[in-house]
Amino acid sequence: MTKVCRILTQDRFDKESIITLLNAEGSDRDLLFVKATEVKQEYIGNKVHLRGLIELTNRCSKNCYYCGIGASNKNINRFMVSLPEVEKAIQFTYNNNYGSIVIQTGELQSESFTAAIEDILQSINKISDGKLGVTLSCGEQSKETYQRWKNAGADRYLLRIESSDRELYYKLHPKDKKHDFDTRLAALKSLKECGYQTGTGVMIGLPFQTIENLAEDLLFMQNFNIDMVGMGPYIEHIDTELYKYKDLVPSKEKRVDLSLKMIAILRIMMKDINIAATTAMQTLIDGGREMALKSGANIMMPNTTPGLYREQYALYNDKPGLDEEAEDSKQSIEKLINRAGCIVAYGEQGNSKHYKVRTS
Ligand code: SAH
Repeated sequence: MTKVCRILTQDRFDKESIITLLNAEGSDRDLLFVKATEVKQEYIGNKVHLRGLIELTNRCSKNCYYCGIGASNKNINRFMVSLPEVEKAIQFTYNNNYGSIVIQTGELQSESFTAAIEDILQSINKISDGKLGVTLSCGEQSKETYQRWKNAGADRYLLRIESSDRELYYKLHPKDKKHDFDTRLAALKSLKECGYQTGTGVMIGLPFQTIENLAEDLLFMQNFNIDMVGMGPYIEHIDTELYKYKDLVPSKEKRVDLSLKMIAILRIMMKDINIAATTAMQTLIDGGREMALKSGANIMMPNTTPGLYREQYALYNDKPGLDEEAEDSKQSIEKLINRAGCIVAYGEQGNSKHYKVRTS
């Protein structure tokens, strides 16, 4: 029996075991994915739940070193999708039976922004008669704001920790009050306290990131008892601070391999959580999201942002689907999911099973 084989018979992984799995190659690597598929089949099945994604605004008050929409980037036009346009996207998601919506934004903290999100939550409720599930991904906010949005109908919140290693975190963010590691952690805690299905995630293949860091990221998610995860490869953006370290970034192949392994290992560690097949996966390799679904992911987020704004929501370079209107993507999404041996769970919200168990 190989070391990997032995590890995969265990119920809980320590850091060393996770590192061994992240380094697995050849038939050992295959074993990892076979095990992840088994676990997914048993706890999740082959349904994929969809979330229509609206990238509401690229306005942002922060300057994360990896992100293309940081405040200091002067090379993009700033937009905020108007309420009527948002309502059109909500209607699209509802008409197409996607089951859930995600609203994602840059990080803005103001009363007018909080109120704008409340208005959108109200519209979602009205248009879908309360049937659409809602995930927000609008960065760090006060607990009061999180509570207001929860009261207005949000079910889930995704706030990536980006890296759970404090030292690495500060290589990726300015060291100031706006980018405080402890504040981000506290925000994640507040989300849980407000009763959200709480999600986090990290970028994979960052400059300075080690395999140990990634192993610790997975243990962080487990210790935090997270309900859902969105994680994917880091992708360079030319107008960012981190771009100067592009030579330290692992090859595309390596980042894809590590991302798939992270998903597979997490699926085995946290059997009933929701895991997204991210757009960044697709950016690095054709068929990337399919590969993620085959490795343990069960959530897809088709982009429903009005086409005219997509180009301006470039978190990283070469983001796909920039010229596709929402209508174009539906068939291709379904085909992709079927190719991965999965089926679309139309009309279902796809709430985190883990959350249900944890809160019952
Ligand atoms: N501002 C919000 C969400 C918008 S950005 C928040 O902080 O919660 C959504 C995610 O995109 C980020 O959490 C980050 O993990 C990811 N992202 C940003 N820049 C990226 C890059 N260059 N490569 C890969 N992912 C990136």
